[in-house]
Amino acid sequence: MDATVFESHESTIRGYCRNYPTVFASASNARQVDEDGKSYLDFFAGAGVLNFGHNNPRMKDALIAFLQADGVAHSLDTYTTTKRDFIARFQEVVLEPRGMDHKMQFMGPTGSNAVEAAMKLARLATGRREIVAFSHGFHGMTLGSLAATANHAFRQWAGVPLENIQRLPFETAPGGESAIADYAAALRDPSSGMRPPAAFLVEAVQAEGGVNVASTEWLHEVQDLAHEVGALFIIDDIQAGVGRTGGYFSFDGMGLDPDIITLAKGLGGFGTPIAMNLNKPEVDAHWSPGAHTGTFRGQGLSFVAGTVALDYFTDEAFLAEVLAKGQRMRDRLESIAAKNPDRGWEVRGRGMMQALDTHDGAFAKRVQQAAFEAGLLIGPCGSEGRVIKLIPPLTIPEDDLAAGLDLLEGALTAASD
Ligand code: PMP
Repeated sequence: MDATVFESHESTIRGYCRNYPTVFASASNARQVDEDGKSYLDFFAGAGVLNFGHNNPRMKDALIAFLQADGVAHSLDTYTTTKRDFIARFQEVVLEPRGMDHKMQFMGPTGSNAVEAAMKLARLATGRREIVAFSHGFHGMTLGSLAATANHAFRQWAGVPLENIQRLPFETAPGGESAIADYAAALRDPSSGMRPPAAFLVEAVQAEGGVNVASTEWLHEVQDLAHEVGALFIIDDIQAGVGRTGGYFSFDGMGLDPDIITLAKGLGGFGTPIAMNLNKPEVDAHWSPGAHTGTFRGQGLSFVAGTVALDYFTDEAFLAEVLAKGQRMRDRLESIAAKNPDRGWEVRGRGMMQALDTHDGAFAKRVQQAAFEAGLLIGPCGSEGRVIKLIPPLTIPEDDLAAGLDLLEGALTAASD
């Protein structure tokens, strides 16, 4: 690998290249090949962006046709045929079947853009300032979304304005079970002097925070309290949404009705950037035209690939396969944990976001390195990076999934020696 160009000219802020020290040259579905010809199974999928695999052939064809027809690549806030097609298809595939009447608001390209807008809209709609966010939550790297992010390591040096964040323990964190009830009691007590918040911002499955899965009951408790005190209930589905946990949304089938849902990552299908919030109409009505602008919010390539991606959610066989593959991942992790009872490893996850909590960040790092050497890309997450998170493309072939799980078991053994 010749990394001279990177080492001499690129900012030292780079992180992932330290975990995957090679130069990737091509990729297809769940495999990436480096410029020396070594093939890697990708169980990281661009941090959960490539739900439909690298260079998805259906999207590639649509993108090539779009380019050959001189489609409008950058549309800002103007109307285009590709934006119209995406909106119509999203309405048909995702919103209508769920009886949802949310408005689609396109953001700048990143998840942070979506969270930032959700926080602003909650303040605008309620006239309040505080946002309740949860321990281990991850919501982005811009100042507002970073304030809502729990991980102190990202915030400590940045002077992040925390005065408008109230952080409660997530359900699975110590104190999590009683926190909502305690907070509700305090809010209801006039002598507490506490002001009700503008919104509760939560991931139904915390991804970066260690793959922590909230129960349906707890999410309802949060939603009920939000609505009791006139606050908005916001679900950040940026990583757990778009099929990752088995349904389109991570909270499908739970009977929840969020006021705002944030989406990004897998939404553009091909790795093409796009972020979108789904706002309840009465909430969305608080925006006035031009109130929240930005340059990159009408990416034609993202609309084209994102429209094709929606086809997967009309395919019952595909959705059943996602659940079956998720179960396969889970069974294998359970069996690995059972073979090592003295390690106290815990398996967590939903759908095709499954994880092994090793309780040891240094060990997880060694596993990641051993996996890389063996040809498997994985990314640790959670406190001290101790949780090994597996998020392969949803389209991964069965034999690649099995081969990757074998490589993971080998890496766990190698890192234990
Ligand atoms: N929310 C969640 C749940 C995320 O996982 C992420 C990214 N890891 C973000 C927000 C921020 O998205 P982005 O990195 O695109 O700004």
